[in-house]
Amino acid sequence: MAERIVFATGNAGKIKEIKRILGDLNMEVVSMKDAGVRVEIEENGSTYEENALIKARAVAAGAEPGDIVMADDSGLEIDYLNKEPGIFSARYLGEETSYRIKNQNLIERLDGVPDEKRTARFVCAIAAVFPDGRELTARGVIEGRIGYEEKGSGGFGYDPIFYVPKLGKTTAELTEEEKNAVSHRGLALRAMKEKMLKNG
Ligand code: IMP
Repeated sequence: MAERIVFATGNAGKIKEIKRILGDLNMEVVSMKDAGVRVEIEENGSTYEENALIKARAVAAGAEPGDIVMADDSGLEIDYLNKEPGIFSARYLGEETSYRIKNQNLIERLDGVPDEKRTARFVCAIAAVFPDGRELTARGVIEGRIGYEEKGSGGFGYDPIFYVPKLGKTTAELTEEEKNAVSHRGLALRAMKEKMLKNG
């Protein structure tokens, strides 16, 4: 097996989480930036898996021949809004628009919608490209509901409006460790680790 995993993200928080979860694979985990890979990636796939593969393949083209390259793609699906914003979650209302505005907008679009119709989920797909050209994808999902107001100051993005009934909290009210234990990204990473261990 390769010695190093290059992860296609510039997000330091993600790298920390990935290192913790993939730690027992005994491989060095580095960001694409630390691996010296610079590429412009157009995420033009129509599923999370496709977008994650597009990112992983683009970075693999610039990585060292022996590296495993991984990438993720994620989003929020709101059932009442026909699964919007979905794969466009980062771009919803414009990439530069603050999440305060995005979150308020989604709460307004659900005005008057009762609890049982506010169902939503965070989805994350992880893609891996191996030195021999093999590819794997894994998916993680966390189910919840859109709240009536923003709550909590942890996490990022849509976390303050994503309420998890079984925890009685939004994902912004969880500690980093609590969120990693139940999050779509944590689940997808663990599923990827299992697949890698099984596939050798
Ligand atoms: P990407 O996977 O980096 O392309 O971004 C997906 C987008 O989905 C993020 O920019 C957020 O808007 C949203 N998102 C994904 N995961 C989370 C999460 O754990 N909490 C809050 N928002 C998330």
